[in-house]
Amino acid sequence: MNIHEYQAKQVLKKYGVPVPDGGVAYTAAEAEKVASGMGGEVFVVKSQIHAGGRGKGTFKEDEGKGKGGVRICKSVAEVKEAAADMIGKTLVTHQTGPAGKEVKRIYVEEGCAIERELYLSMLIDRVSCRVTIMASTEGGMNIEEVASETPEKILLQSIDPATGIQGFHCRKIAFALGLKGGQIKSCAKLLGSLYEAFTATDASLLEINPLVVTKDGDVIPLDAKMNFDSNAMYRQPDIHELRDEDEEDAMELEASKHDLNYIKLDGTIGCMVNGAGLAMSTMDIIQLRGGTPANFLDVGGGATAERV
Ligand code: ADP
Ligand code: MG
Repeated sequence: MNIHEYQAKQVLKKYGVPVPDGGVAYTAAEAEKVASGMGGEVFVVKSQIHAGGRGKGTFKEDEGKGKGGVRICKSVAEVKEAAADMIGKTLVTHQTGPAGKEVKRIYVEEGCAIERELYLSMLIDRVSCRVTIMASTEGGMNIEEVASETPEKILLQSIDPATGIQGFHCRKIAFALGLKGGQIKSCAKLLGSLYEAFTATDASLLEINPLVVTKDGDVIPLDAKMNFDSNAMYRQPDIHELRDEDEEDAMELEASKHDLNYIKLDGTIGCMVNGAGLAMSTMDIIQLRGGTPANFLDVGGGATAERV
């Protein structure tokens, strides 16, 4: 399950992660109110969709020519204008695919004076069965690109669940990120809070891109993406509440209400199969013979006539 950036930041804040001030808005008038309540001189208006690459994305309505989905504003009036311009439009980024995603809410955040942009993420490594931390000095970039072109710029650190995150892990990561002096301590504190948030919420991915060093020398997350294990949502009511059904595929949503494992695909051959393994094999066979499956649908191994 995915949540929005502003929600991820609220979750992280609960675990003691320092995040910039901000507020969500569904209309331009609300955005204006949020900004005037915040004070400060620089704001950032950020489209909230379940996809990254918003800064470099463009709106369909502007035919790829207008401004992106993350905008720096120098006054409350500019915040209102940016919000009015984004809400209701369809943002296309390298993660949304050509169809894009409609922006229904925006996040107004305090502007931050950035010194350096870094990359940090935590994910479950299925091979080692551990939480693995990925860190890189190449923040603000597409990490897949960094991984394929300059893999030496990525540090991987796996965490033993029996010990949890330790000081030496943190120091290794802080050094790899080129942090100095007091920043090493704040990075260690930050990593501890992030790890706590990750494990306590049954997260499967936590990506901070960018993690920034500010001009004042603080180390803070400017973007946050969190995914959670859907199978754990029964014991995570607070997280489950953050689900935004507008962001989900309508057919997949309908299927999930009937406890069906359904994933929509782009092909032309519909598949209804009893058992996930058999469903996977069926898709493989279709591909092997030059066809393309229109969906993955597992009705369950013990499916009855009614269920089918
Ligand atoms: P996305 O990854 O979807 O493009 P980000 O939240 O990473 O969205 O924002 C894109 C870029 O905008 C960041 O790399 C950063 O340079 C800038 N940015 C984002 N939030 C702020 C902020 N609060 N203050 C200053 N710059 C910001
Ligand atoms: Mg980002």
